[in-house]
Amino acid sequence: MAFRLILFLLCLGLGGLGGALLAGHQGAELGLVAGAVVWFAVDSLRGLRALRWLRGNDLRNPPRLGGLWGEALDRVRRAVALRDRGTEEAESRLADFLDAIRASPNGVVLLDREGRIEWLNETAAAHFGFDPVRDQQQHIGNLLRDPDFGAMYAGRSHAEDVVIPAPGSTALRPRKLSLRLHPYGQGRLLMLSRDVTSVEQAEFMRRDFVANVSHEIRTPLTVLSGFVETLQTLDLPREERARYLQMMGQQTQRMQTLVNDLLTLSRLEGSPPPGAGDWTPLASLLAQCEQEARALAAALGKSLDVRFLPHAELALAGTAVELQSAFSNLVTNAVRYTPGGGLVEVSAAQQPDGRLAFSVRDTGPGVAAEHVPRLTERFYRVDRSRSRETGGTGLGLAIVKHVVQRHGGELHIASTPGAGSTFTILLPAARVRAAETAGSAARHATESAAG
Ligand code: ADP
Repeated sequence: MAFRLILFLLCLGLGGLGGALLAGHQGAELGLVAGAVVWFAVDSLRGLRALRWLRGNDLRNPPRLGGLWGEALDRVRRAVALRDRGTEEAESRLADFLDAIRASPNGVVLLDREGRIEWLNETAAAHFGFDPVRDQQQHIGNLLRDPDFGAMYAGRSHAEDVVIPAPGSTALRPRKLSLRLHPYGQGRLLMLSRDVTSVEQAEFMRRDFVANVSHEIRTPLTVLSGFVETLQTLDLPREERARYLQMMGQQTQRMQTLVNDLLTLSRLEGSPPPGAGDWTPLASLLAQCEQEARALAAALGKSLDVRFLPHAELALAGTAVELQSAFSNLVTNAVRYTPGGGLVEVSAAQQPDGRLAFSVRDTGPGVAAEHVPRLTERFYRVDRSRSRETGGTGLGLAIVKHVVQRHGGELHIASTPGAGSTFTILLPAARVRAAETAGSAARHATESAAG
């Protein structure tokens, strides 16, 4: 301000002095006016420079002006710098925020007051098959035509999720999405989507499993309670009573087998994978299978040609009880499903790649190709009554599959309807080695004594 006053006075002084020197008293007055005009012109020029800078885009570098204009411009520059820093910070926060929403495993769609898409993340684009660029400003109702979603959107009932089939979902590959709307801002909506396909499938399987178990237990229970009632109300002859009691024993046996299989399955699911340090001789596993097969054939009154082919002296690493259960299940299935006069052939041999192939071949009814991939599902049976008649629970192959997977192996099923089936378990080479026979153990002992 002082600079400005000094400049003004200097202009007046120089003008007045110049005028006085040139034309005396009158000249001094004119000189003062001329000095004021010059000051005004110079100041206006400085003001114009300041204005031009303010109108321009480069607000970071002001023109060099001293005095009042210079200070005013400097303050403007500082205010602009402060605002720019604030904007940069806000932009970086917004970018971080959008990155976080982009990375979200949930789909996020921002809708404006009219229900048009303002923004969506890639997960939402994948869920709905939207194009994040092309579909912006499209009305959500035009893109998502599911009636349940329509009702939720129209009613603005935002408290509950709706589950809808994902666009593009097919009967073979069903996909389910859970949607929720949250109001925010002024009349805007945030739509969140979650892929709940696996959750829905697990829930469906759980319900299906509970229904199956209840059904399996209810049937023998109904039969049992019928017999109990008969025995209580009728005075039956001794032989008749004995026959009833025997049938009751069969039904309890059936329930026991079912509960045992269920416990085996849940133990398999809940326990850690078997270690590779426990070795069981293959011979003892096969001996037990053979004993069970012959006992079952006799119990079913079938004359079958049950053959156990010669095998090498091998040992297998894993949980002995589980391996026994898997092998026995395949052998007893073959005995149960093969009609009298048929052949059941069991072999166990090391493959050239070191894996063990345990195979059970039968000349039973076989299984049509469409059933084969489903045989290892719990309670899946091709012929329900035949399975029950022979004491089946529908869980045997599910147990086999679990055991084999836990041991890092594979289960292969080859079957020709009317001709028979071959069920093969392949165990990894790391779980197979030559068995410690009595001879080799004695040799080891002598070697270590000599060493
Ligand atoms: P189940 O107790 O009913 O035998 P599994 O899980 O052991 O249950 O077997 C599932 C289904 O696979 C059986 O119901 C049967 O239809 C079929 N199956 C299993 N083994 C054989 C076989 N050796 N020959 C023909 N069908 C078989």
